[in-house]
Amino acid sequence: MSRFFYLFFAIICLLITQVSFAKTYIENRLNKPVPGGVAVVKLGDGVSTEKLPRVSYNGHQVLVVKSEGEVLAIVGIPLTAKVGQHHIDVVSNTGKRQTVTFNVLSKKYTEQHIKLPSNKHVTPSAANQARFKRELEEQLQAYAQFRQVMPSNVVLDRPVDGGRYSSPFGLRRFFNGQERNPHSGLDIAVPTGTPVKASADGVITIVGDYFFNGKTVFVDHGQGLISMYCHLSEIDVKKGQVVKRGEVVGKVGATGRATGPHLHWNVSLNNVRVDPAIFVGAFQP
Ligand SMILES: [Zn+2]
Repeated sequence: MSRFFYLFFAIICLLITQVSFAKTYIENRLNKPVPGGVAVVKLGDGVSTEKLPRVSYNGHQVLVVKSEGEVLAIVGIPLTAKVGQHHIDVVSNTGKRQTVTFNVLSKKYTEQHIKLPSNKHVTPSAANQARFKRELEEQLQAYAQFRQVMPSNVVLDRPVDGGRYSSPFGLRRFFNGQERNPHSGLDIAVPTGTPVKASADGVITIVGDYFFNGKTVFVDHGQGLISMYCHLSEIDVKKGQVVKRGEVVGKVGATGRATGPHLHWNVSLNNVRVDPAIFVGAFQP
């Protein structure tokens, strides 16, 4: 009898251990804690699952969700982040403050050399530089927004059907030999006219026609989770419009600085551009 009891006890212990170490669906899908990646941080004991805490990282408010009975902070890690321990600040609804740490692991990003027929988009003229500065400012403001709305889904939908990933996030790019900012999004090679669908519910915060990005749409999914789609041939939404997950916002094109038709998709979390591949299960470590 006692042997059965011990066996029973051992099985229960094993189950409890497994349960406490079990990862939620969101952690499994999104936890890629590298520079340019995402850390899914469990907020553990003392945190109300009813009134979610306010979390910040590097002074920016962070997306917090409740999933499978856990409260999770979904933190965007900048491409420039140092490998090692990072922390988030958590303030509960009762005002209790705590610091929670997570580790950022290393990831090596490769280089790409692009030859453009003209230097127009490599070294823009003074007039174009002024235009670019204005347009950049407009976009940076849209990325810095934090709407107090829970995203419909944090595991985002792929915005186009088909197509290969032609250029990954984080590539160090050289245009005609001159290094420019690393690739801020994921390129998907699909023909001109392919419908671009909102990756989650949202509000259209930008409809633009920009020097580098060409025709551009920003979809604010809530709590700092923001998608940007650009180089579009056509835009089918208006600024301020509310869109549903899967709703067509425009068509793929090659406007702005693009060598051919493709969708360039940016994903931003807590005002940090992160690898969109993470959200569609295509992350390459
Ligand atoms: Zn791109």
